[in-house]
Amino acid sequence: MVDSSEDTVVLADPAVIAGLDYWRTLPIKQQPAWPDSDAVGAASAEIGSMPPLVFAGEVDILRDRLAAAASGKAFLLQGGDCAETFAGATADQIRNRVKTVLQMAVVLTYGASTPVIKMGRMAGQFAKPRSSDMETRGDVTLPAYRGDIVNGYDFTPESREADPSRLVRGYHTAAATLNLVRAFTQGGFADLRQVHSWNQGFARNPANVRYEQMARDIDKAIKFMEAAGADFDELKRVEFYTSHEGLLMDYERPMTRIDSRTGTPYNTSAHFLWVGERTRDLDGAHIDYFSRVRNPIGVKLGPSTTPAVMRELIDKLDPNREPGRLTFITRMGAEKVRDALPPLLEAIKEVDATPLWVSDPMHGNGLTTPTGYKTRRFDDVVDEVKGFFEAHRAAGTYPGGIHIELTGDDVTECLGGSEQIDEATLATRYESLCDPRLNHMQSLELAFLVAEELAAR
Ligand code: PEP
Ligand code: MN
Repeated sequence: MVDSSEDTVVLADPAVIAGLDYWRTLPIKQQPAWPDSDAVGAASAEIGSMPPLVFAGEVDILRDRLAAAASGKAFLLQGGDCAETFAGATADQIRNRVKTVLQMAVVLTYGASTPVIKMGRMAGQFAKPRSSDMETRGDVTLPAYRGDIVNGYDFTPESREADPSRLVRGYHTAAATLNLVRAFTQGGFADLRQVHSWNQGFARNPANVRYEQMARDIDKAIKFMEAAGADFDELKRVEFYTSHEGLLMDYERPMTRIDSRTGTPYNTSAHFLWVGERTRDLDGAHIDYFSRVRNPIGVKLGPSTTPAVMRELIDKLDPNREPGRLTFITRMGAEKVRDALPPLLEAIKEVDATPLWVSDPMHGNGLTTPTGYKTRRFDDVVDEVKGFFEAHRAAGTYPGGIHIELTGDDVTECLGGSEQIDEATLATRYESLCDPRLNHMQSLELAFLVAEELAAR
């Protein structure tokens, strides 16, 4: 008799396993200059022996959810730090970020009248691409900061040297973060009525009167659900997915595992990974590696992306034209989005693929103040999202999500918003080690504004 308690294990084809290392033969960008290759090998091997952070079954569910978003039946909210730090992986900061995403999601769900897929740039967003390998301050030049999983931010030779032990610390910090995220989202913290009561607090602030009506409408909708007998116990838990830029191959490769149900490889460091604007070369290492794992994959598209490049990315990453497999995250800049996005949307109609289109209104809108702060204007962020919706409306395609750099804390990194953060205020609480993030209030305000766009989608 067959023992039904033992599932059949499907082994991977040896050619599939070999393919997972093919990227090593290809040109690769944005990797650190590790001082000691034996130590990197040992750190990668250690990570390779650790448990997966996410499971293949969860990844498959996410793919289905993203497929729904690609056809207008759901909306993706992806948000979190530009660069997570090890020191920032505290209970308070993680809670505030999760809380902000949950609050935004309730508002967006109301606006879209569809489910909102909640996804953090969290539990692994530790590696950063840099525009220059070196950084100069005064007459000292040192390696650039590449994120906590590579080197330290302090501007000293010791701190800036790439340190392979950080790879292992990155894994453990991601595991601890994800553990808390799972607890918050499964253990009652995500209760719809509680999240809504936080939003009412936001709308009661005199600076936010513009959003009071929608908050009241949401309140009515919840009361109606209650009266109609909705099962609020079911609404105490939410699905929350993790994502980060798939950049640092000495971390991503050892986190790759073969799913015993299907014999196919999954990257188990996050549910969703995206390839950045600087590393998405068609013949480069990153696109090759990510073409071989089953996770849903994102690609950032900047304003110079041509329809031809877009089509080749589809052929490489989504050869089977599988709904939910491929997400294009456009980051054009408020000034360019209305010119740069429409040609891609026209071209996609001629391709038999249905990528999910997501707006990243952050990375095309950076500026540096005369006092030297890297910042973004809240109005530019809003304007790019509006341009994104306009372009999709004109093309008849679906605007399927937003990708935001945010924190749940009251930092002062982006200009504007209802609190009217100005250049002088930036200095008071600028904490990002990398790009400027929307703070808690600015994030909620953006959610209300996007909800208005969604209602008109
Ligand atoms: C990022 O998402 O932090 C980033 C570096 O984005 P991009 O690749 O679009 O520049
Ligand atoms: Mn960034």
